[in-house]
Amino acid sequence: EKIIELENIVKNYRVGTQVVRALRSVSLDIYKGEYVAIMGASGSGKSTLMNILGCLDTPSSGKYVLNGKDVSRLTDDSLAEIRNSEIGFVFQVFNLLPRNTALENVMLPLVYAGIKKAERKQMAEKTLTEVGLEDRMEHRPNELSGGQRQRVAIARALINKPALLLADEPTGNLDSKISEEIMKLFADIHRKGNTLVMVTHEEDIAKHAHRIIRLKDGEIESDTINKNPIY
Ligand code: ADP
Ligand code: ADP
Repeated sequence: EKIIELENIVKNYRVGTQVVRALRSVSLDIYKGEYVAIMGASGSGKSTLMNILGCLDTPSSGKYVLNGKDVSRLTDDSLAEIRNSEIGFVFQVFNLLPRNTALENVMLPLVYAGIKKAERKQMAEKTLTEVGLEDRMEHRPNELSGGQRQRVAIARALINKPALLLADEPTGNLDSKISEEIMKLFADIHRKGNTLVMVTHEEDIAKHAHRIIRLKDGEIESDTINKNPIY
């Protein structure tokens, strides 16, 4: 079953009188439960593609169907609704609220979903436990290591049970040992049936994914199955 269908996606940016062609004609299907890495040099279009996949931006032309729904031409409000209900985001910078505890940070998306406080707390505790932070729930971000902060961010991304988990350079701020721990966690999340798409420019990180897509100058240069994923 397809979760992502991209058909001839084009994205142009206007800069003054110039037009930058960030994506030229990208067509791509991703199935439920896949674990995909998107690679490519700086400027190849990775962020642009992620922004479109994450419904943070819309294509100039082409069709994007996410989880059976055409999201190519939605209004900003409808896009925001799709983001909140269908997509979990993990970033290079963890984007946690500094004054709130790990538990409160993870509970936050559930406030918007209209879930009662007692249930929010219970769900957040369960998710934090799943990412290995059962003894860090009351800590604030500055009382946590980089790897722990990223685990909080991952728990927050997963709490709404999104159809799709998008990660943009998730290990960009972490040393290699901690990055490997985060990749182990991603492997667990994948094994539980989640769909993961991550952007990385590091080969060592990409080879954890089961499929690797390389972009070059706004086009797909290659799309290969990784026969030997690390976990
Ligand atoms: P990366 O995804 O490689 O970490 P960025 O997405 O931050 O990097 O930027 C990639 C390229 O896109 C850079 O050359 C940057 O100058 C350009 N870029 C990103 N955002 C903008 C913007 N809002 N306006 C103009 N250029 C941008
Ligand atoms: P990557 O993430 O692979 O570095 P991007 O998607 O950020 O690539 O950028 C692709 C191309 O689009 C680059 O030439 C970049 O400079 C340009 N670009 C990206 N974002 C913007 C923007 N907001 N305004 C103008 N140009 C942009």
